Amino acid sequence: MGKAIGIDLGTTYSVAAIVENNRVRIIQNAEGDRLTPSVYAESADGRIMVGAIAKNQASANPDRTVSSVKRLMGSDARIQMNGRGLSPQEISAHILRKIKADVKRQLGEDVTRAVITVPAYFSDAQRRVTQEAGNMAGFEIMRIISEPTAAALAYGMNRSDIQHILVWDLGGGTFDVSILEVGDGLFHVRAVNGDTRLGGDDWDARLVSHLKQQVLQIHDLDIESDACTFQQVKEACERTKRELSVQNESRIFLPLASGPHHDAIEIEMTISRRVFEELTQDLLNMLILPTRQALEDVSLTPADMDRVILVGGATRMPAVRQLVETLFQQPPDTHLNPDEVVAMGAAIQAGVLNGSVQDVILIDVTPLSLGIETQGGLFTRLIPRNTTIPVTAERIFTNAQDNQTVMDFNVLQGEREMAGDNITLGSFQLTDIPELPRGKGHVEVMFEIDANGILQVSAQELHTGESAGIKIDAAHLLSGDQIDRAVAEAAGHAETDIQRRREIEASIQTNHLIQAAEALLFGTDRRLSKASRREIHTAVSAAKTALAGGQFEAMTEATRALKSVLNKL
Ligand code: AMP
Repeated sequence: MGKAIGIDLGTTYSVAAIVENNRVRIIQNAEGDRLTPSVYAESADGRIMVGAIAKNQASANPDRTVSSVKRLMGSDARIQMNGRGLSPQEISAHILRKIKADVKRQLGEDVTRAVITVPAYFSDAQRRVTQEAGNMAGFEIMRIISEPTAAALAYGMNRSDIQHILVWDLGGGTFDVSILEVGDGLFHVRAVNGDTRLGGDDWDARLVSHLKQQVLQIHDLDIESDACTFQQVKEACERTKRELSVQNESRIFLPLASGPHHDAIEIEMTISRRVFEELTQDLLNMLILPTRQALEDVSLTPADMDRVILVGGATRMPAVRQLVETLFQQPPDTHLNPDEVVAMGAAIQAGVLNGSVQDVILIDVTPLSLGIETQGGLFTRLIPRNTTIPVTAERIFTNAQDNQTVMDFNVLQGEREMAGDNITLGSFQLTDIPELPRGKGHVEVMFEIDANGILQVSAQELHTGESAGIKIDAAHLLSGDQIDRAVAEAAGHAETDIQRRREIEASIQTNHLIQAAEALLFGTDRRLSKASRREIHTAVSAAKTALAGGQFEAMTEATRALKSVLNKL
């Protein structure tokens, strides 16, 4: 029988996975990402765009961009697009078509059989149109399964005794609570509840309105008055929300092209996790009532829940995890990626129906992040912790110095921000790099972990094709206690580590700008007036003083001043 995949057709993102050799593998898309934005767009001349390309142009083309179409599945809505109306299932079919094409590209063969997941509360009609979307995209839909069931499958819960499992799924736009009774390979969704209008986007919206007030006060600008500006602000706030899941502070910096008089303004705001949590406390509280309701519906209490599983990207927020612990007196299951766990379960179901899964499925994850040392002694992650393997990740790096002919690669494992605080797995050197000015060389670094946990790291200079690499045996990777210790240590140092990282990144940026400014000063461009030269000179001196002082704020301020002098020129 041919291959079969599992697809999580999500409101914000969609994910595809497959079981190969009894292991689940997330299938990367053509852009090299594991998640595909569930966004569809058309250009004015009718060119179709799906995924990241559609999402990235959303602010410039809001009228012909559709997201969150899943909310409309089963309704009579028609989405107006270039003078015609499309049904929600037609848009979903476009997303599924892209997934199908990406799977073919990755696996080297066309896969036509699939299991698709839907929310547990989806009606028959909604399930039917989801199936229809799959068929339109050229799939034979083997089964439509509920998302919480898929999550429980991925966590291997079909093999245990009868258990009660509570699944909390907080995605971009919806919150679902499901209580499952699981055992002997059977899944029974006993209760569903939730809020179809509550999701991570609401947390973003709180940041947006906070920023809106500040900008109105400081710049007398309404960020909502211009669709492009507003979109940029929304994206920045979403990034900040994500950053606040791993650090205590995040900085929003947005240079905007248009103010009230079409002049350039810069929006800048630093927000702490504490303030973010205060701004969103009521949203967090809204998770409680549907949970109580679901438990009451089946006459169970929090103490009856054997496990709590978290699904959906927004469950990464520490406040959400903390709330689970408070409500259920147990930490939630989080070791699988909450964005991918539903697709993994769908892939397992597809494998079972296909006959390719007989026994225990192994889902291996990278227990610690893997990456390399970069300029300033920083640790740059290529594969974050808890990524399912096999996996490949690549990133382009450039030369930090002029005419650098040799690059050293230090391969590391750990969660700390500084390379020196992590564990070195091995190192290698790439030589014969052509002499180029700083920042002009391009070296592609690739991390590849196969199904056996063997890590292969390679670096290739893209002009010459010259390459070097190293192979690291699974046995060299840390295990058990050491991993727990590394994670706990990173959590203990998170604040100081992040601060250190910010200072180093700021000093690298200041340094680059000073070099660029000096190149201009000492260059041969005769168009530079004496006054301009003096202005650059003063700003460069201030930046050098700030750099020597090593203070983050002073460096940021001096860099900004220097940048604005250079921009003016
Ligand atoms: P989903 O619909 O399950 O893909 O969830 C997407 C939502 O998760 C969006 O609102 C994202 O902004 C949010 N999200 C993803 N990663 C994080 C993170 N690290 N911290 C907070 N929210 C996140």
